[in-house]
Amino acid sequence: MSLRLGLTRASRGIYVPLLTQRGAPASVVGLKRAQPASSTTCPEYYDVVISGGGLVGFAMACSLGHSKRLSDRRIVLLEGALNKPWQLPEAFSNRVCALNARTRTFFKKLGVWEHIEHLRAQPVHRMQVWESCSEAMITFDGHNQEDGTVAHIVENDVTLHSIKRQIPQHIEVEYEAKVESYQIPKDMASKVVLTLADGRTISTDLLIGADGAKSLVRRNMGVQYLSWDYDQMGIVATLQLSEAVDNTVAWQRFLPTGPVALLPLSDDHSSLVWSTTREQATHLLQLSDEDFTEALNRAIWDDSEVDSRVKSIHTAWLKVLETMVPGESAETRQLPPSIARVLPGTRGGFPLGLGHAVHYITPRVALIGDAAHRVHPLAGQGVNLGFGDVATLTHCLENSVLLGAELGDEQALYQYEKERQKYNVATMASVDGLYRLYNSAALPLVLLRSLGLSAVNAMAPLKRQIMVHAES
Ligand SMILES: Cc1cc2nc3c(=O)[nH]c(=O)nc-3n(C[C@H](O)[C@H](O)[C@H](O)COP(=O)(O)OP(=O)(O)OC[C@H]3O[C@@H](n4cnc5c(N)ncnc54)[C@H](O)[C@@H]3O)c2cc1C
Repeated sequence: MSLRLGLTRASRGIYVPLLTQRGAPASVVGLKRAQPASSTTCPEYYDVVISGGGLVGFAMACSLGHSKRLSDRRIVLLEGALNKPWQLPEAFSNRVCALNARTRTFFKKLGVWEHIEHLRAQPVHRMQVWESCSEAMITFDGHNQEDGTVAHIVENDVTLHSIKRQIPQHIEVEYEAKVESYQIPKDMASKVVLTLADGRTISTDLLIGADGAKSLVRRNMGVQYLSWDYDQMGIVATLQLSEAVDNTVAWQRFLPTGPVALLPLSDDHSSLVWSTTREQATHLLQLSDEDFTEALNRAIWDDSEVDSRVKSIHTAWLKVLETMVPGESAETRQLPPSIARVLPGTRGGFPLGLGHAVHYITPRVALIGDAAHRVHPLAGQGVNLGFGDVATLTHCLENSVLLGAELGDEQALYQYEKERQKYNVATMASVDGLYRLYNSAALPLVLLRSLGLSAVNAMAPLKRQIMVHAES
């Protein structure tokens, strides 16, 4: 029995699973089937299977669904987890992402952005990055953008449900459809065959692996995966500020143990991403809400680590810069907000690491999102890279179909890999480099990076280039 699940937009913000065609009620999708497929059953065929329905997998489904050139293709997204009905809650979720300008442009094309804006998104007009070992800082603002924003802070649930709303009806979505294994062909002569936990098999011309950092698709492809653990955890939480302010600045302070970031959610709420050693993270997660709030305010405000020698050399350096680039080096330092309290029950911890698949493709298979690459959250790039993969892969597939090639054609996939690796590897190397540069309190390094940071801050064209890369 084939079960097909669509989504209906019954009312704003609520997703009601639909019973479609030969389908059963959504609540039984993915439950053990009464008659599991026998080994002699023919695999069901789809032109494209997207495995994994996180932010990136659903964005892929949405993007392929909007492609006119692929509108006659049978496409299914398989997600292992349950489909939970969702409505915008009053309280902010503790899982948020900074979505950059490129993602916003892409989402506008798909009609996703208007749902995000309608639900909840906080614009960021400025980013201020500074460190605890010196007074050096850098700021970025959104001069490049029409609306003056650097990014938007959006809860992951808001993004996910906004994407889902824009998925056309002809795209099939199955929840509780965990894939257990993939038979990946060596060449174009065979199709990919998937076996689901309920025993069904599916064959496809093109498998898109969007199944996250521990991707089974990637493991079954047998591609080399370079990875390391930062031995760090990212602590997330929702924070209430001491007073309501024009909260449109994203703050990040580098401590020797890792960066702590406050991302604005509303006038009086911010989201926390505090990356720190596993040991300190374990301790912080065990503190009472009051003690945690105190530790956080200390992490943002305490300047006992500032070295007096670095401070005096840095002050002299700022004067030199002022003579070299008058006006540009004058640092307009804003003060971060102070935190009144961490909202109860919103603290969570995530292990942080870096991972990169040496190849994103094999015949008939492509990896996207965290399945292909995983970065430290300090630059807020992870999911934005994933959405970039989606845009490029869609474009490459459309081109190959236009030229009469088969879906899964190696040339199209190769083009995708080439374009994305060029961009992703450069971004990941910068993020990892930044992490390493700031992961030390050694005096010479503190001095060098402080002088360097202030110099970059004074060079408007260089800062613009950094922003252009982060947004493109
Ligand atoms: C603390 C923290 C802060 C972050 N902040 C930012 C930020 O500000 N900006 C930014 O751009 N990024 C940020 N990121 C990164 C971002 O969260 C990830 O890049 C993004 O969520 C990855 O999405 P994905 O869809 O690729 O993978 P996932 O979210 O991991 O989704 C994978 C999906 O595949 C499904 N799946 C897995 N295996 C199977 C299977 N066998 N069968 C069926 N389904 C399966 C899973 O159920 C899941 O739904 C942050 C990450 C962390 C940890």
